[in-house]
Amino acid sequence: DGVIWLDGEMVPWREAKTHVLTHTLHYGLGCFEGVRAYNTANGPAIFRLKEHTDRLFRSAHILNMKMPFSKDEINEAQCAAVRDNNLDEAYLRPMAFLGSEGMGLRADNLKVHVMVAAWSWPSYMSPEAKELGIKVRTSSYTRHHVNITMCKAKANGNYINSMLALNEAISGGAEEALMLDNEGYVAEGSGENVFIIRDGVLHTPELTSCLEGITRATIIDFAKDLGLQVKERRITRDEVYVAEEAFFTGTAAEVLPIRELDGRAIGAGKRGPITEKLQSMYFDAVKGKLAQ
Ligand code: PLP
Repeated sequence: DGVIWLDGEMVPWREAKTHVLTHTLHYGLGCFEGVRAYNTANGPAIFRLKEHTDRLFRSAHILNMKMPFSKDEINEAQCAAVRDNNLDEAYLRPMAFLGSEGMGLRADNLKVHVMVAAWSWPSYMSPEAKELGIKVRTSSYTRHHVNITMCKAKANGNYINSMLALNEAISGGAEEALMLDNEGYVAEGSGENVFIIRDGVLHTPELTSCLEGITRATIIDFAKDLGLQVKERRITRDEVYVAEEAFFTGTAAEVLPIRELDGRAIGAGKRGPITEKLQSMYFDAVKGKLAQ
């Protein structure tokens, strides 16, 4: 049931199909976003809509895919996907992909299709995890982003290692993976940016081996509003072990405390006070209670 925006039109959910010869299915060149709408006092509102659309267009530009719609049209498509499906709270998935018009690796002349789906997705992490924190395991898979210089694209093909890492973490008894870059420095989670707190200072990996997270930017702003010092720099794995607090950020994970990494408690082994403060500011912001 419901509708999906596909190439400029709303189509019934069941009819929003693509062919088995869809180019992106074969070679993985495509880009997408993960966006959320929250129910606010003024009805459903898409959090950081413009920032997500801007990143989708940057991803397409990096991948040399020509977007056949304007940013305004893609913004409106996302609003319509929430509205026409009568959703209060929703996860949205805009995606640009290459269709079945051609095969082969020369793709610059192929038609770019765009779709936006929205559905109701109950919280990605349990309320318990958000309050107590999660167990994380350092992954044996690196966050290489296909090529380290391509991490600004939220590209389909960049998620193979993330999936392997998450599966590895879960089968090893943890809830999330911490991925390192090719040089062994901390990069990010499977689909989240990572922060640590040491001596009251917030540290997060610089944007060389992790996605330019929109939640990451939001949290950096909030931390500065609180008067916290924020440092974007290379972080080693053992610094996370000895951090006072650590947490992940992401549209899906929101602000998620890390209580344990590789069997070592982080700080007091539970959500720390700075994490809790930033988390509550984030929940207020998505609900429209803070100036955005
Ligand atoms: N890192 C990766 C690899 C992701 O897929 C995501 C999710 O989009 C993030 C970080 C967090 O980014 P954002 O806060 O924009 O959702």
